[in-house]
Amino acid sequence: MTQVLHIVGGGMAGSEAAWQAAEMGVDVIIHEMRPTVGTFAHQTGNLAEMVCSNSFRSDDDEQNAVGLLHWEMRAANGLIMTTADAHRLPAGGALAVDRDPFAETVTAKLRAHPRVTVTDEEVTTLPDDGQWIFATGPLTSPALGEAIRAETGSDALAFFDAIAPIVYADSIDMSKAWMQSRYDKGETEEERTAYLNCPMDRDQYEAFIDALLAADKTEFHEGETAGYFDGCLPIEVMAERGRETLRHGPMKPVGLTNRHAPDVKPHAVVQLRRDNALGTLFNIVGFQTKMKYGAQTDVFRMIPGLENASFARLGGIHRNTFINSPTLLDAQMRLKSKPNIRFAGQITGVEGYVESAAMGLLAGRMAAAEILGRDLPEVPKDSAMGALIHHITGGAEAKTFQPMNVNFGLFRPVDGLKGGRRGRKDRYKAYTDRAKAEWQTWLDQC
Ligand SMILES: Cc1cc2nc3c(=O)[nH]c(=O)nc-3n(C[C@H](O)[C@H](O)[C@H](O)COP(=O)(O)OP(=O)(O)OC[C@H]3O[C@@H](n4cnc5c(N)ncnc54)[C@H](O)[C@@H]3O)c2cc1C
Repeated sequence: MTQVLHIVGGGMAGSEAAWQAAEMGVDVIIHEMRPTVGTFAHQTGNLAEMVCSNSFRSDDDEQNAVGLLHWEMRAANGLIMTTADAHRLPAGGALAVDRDPFAETVTAKLRAHPRVTVTDEEVTTLPDDGQWIFATGPLTSPALGEAIRAETGSDALAFFDAIAPIVYADSIDMSKAWMQSRYDKGETEEERTAYLNCPMDRDQYEAFIDALLAADKTEFHEGETAGYFDGCLPIEVMAERGRETLRHGPMKPVGLTNRHAPDVKPHAVVQLRRDNALGTLFNIVGFQTKMKYGAQTDVFRMIPGLENASFARLGGIHRNTFINSPTLLDAQMRLKSKPNIRFAGQITGVEGYVESAAMGLLAGRMAAAEILGRDLPEVPKDSAMGALIHHITGGAEAKTFQPMNVNFGLFRPVDGLKGGRRGRKDRYKAYTDRAKAEWQTWLDQC
């Protein structure tokens, strides 16, 4: 008799993980605390409940990274994607979903599966024995959160994210920006030039502060208490505290010399830091924000050097339980300190329904393969699935790790293609063609 796979949390990731493992021939028990124990955002006892928007975002599998993830999950017989397709609503190029029938169908399919059992119980410990996947999401119950913290240490578990916007490196105007660490600190040339700096004169700074103050902001959801305030204030809140606050905080101009105009002292400097090992993404340091997305692009493009910036993701602050995956997980999503436990979904530091389901798909297959004594080939790095799992389990900067959406900045460049905005269409098509071929090969080998 093969071992049972326990999956804690029957959201997007847990439901997909259960389906994949059961389809591979492994018996699964889903431990889902709802409806016995609720969260502030979930409304029902259904599995795979969409807590907010009903969109799976772009369905374009040639020019969009999340659309590519849809494609890869469909090719892998993904429960979440095939059910979403069956309950699709008209939404142009996006995949919008009729949320109640969608969650009811996922629940019914899993409950009807001969290898799946669903229990409505809260799990509050990390067991020493058995094979487990924890997919308890951004609203992991407090008791389990404490157990995870006891295992991982408090530095490696966050209860709020503080996401600074991330910019594609090749969209930054280097005729205005320059690379330099403050006071040229660092042992190596790479460290001394670790930051990308964008200078502002007084007029540009004042206009920027005006725009920050006037921008539309989002509110916290009801129940999503604003306990984030220690050390990660939104920039607009800093600006509200005084027009000079940012110049003494993340925008301070000291210790930096503008390479393009060494004699002109900048009034303020915005710093960006590398966000991934590939060097394709840079985050704007200290710029976590609750500004609405439309306002963010307008305001951040006022920064000299970022006038034509393309954003891999925009900033935000949310109630969000997530672990520091780059330090805690191995390439198979197992907890290094307790390898009988895997994590999947948003708690691993991916963001969104689709990305969470995607990580559930991989965790379910990996756990099932381990139980069945089968070797799975390495997930191809150039697929969307591979780009995402490699990012969270190693490619991301561990020190500044924050949740990530899938985006083309996570992909290795394709040789010989033009960078910048002009070459974007050809580049994205090359990424998606390469990803599909590699993903299909991987599926055929599994
Ligand atoms: C307020 C809010 C709004 C959001 N809006 C969006 C949006 O518009 N679009 C988007 O793409 N993403 C959104 N997200 C993120 C979205 O929730 C996740 O991307 C996605 O649901 C994560 O999937 P998951 O499976 O990791 O977690 P979930 O789907 O949240 O599933 C986790 C499951 O674990 C259960 N659980 C928790 N603790 C325990 C425990 N101890 N024992 C047993 N079960 C437990 C929960 O009840 C839940 O069913 C939002 C999140 C929040 C909190």
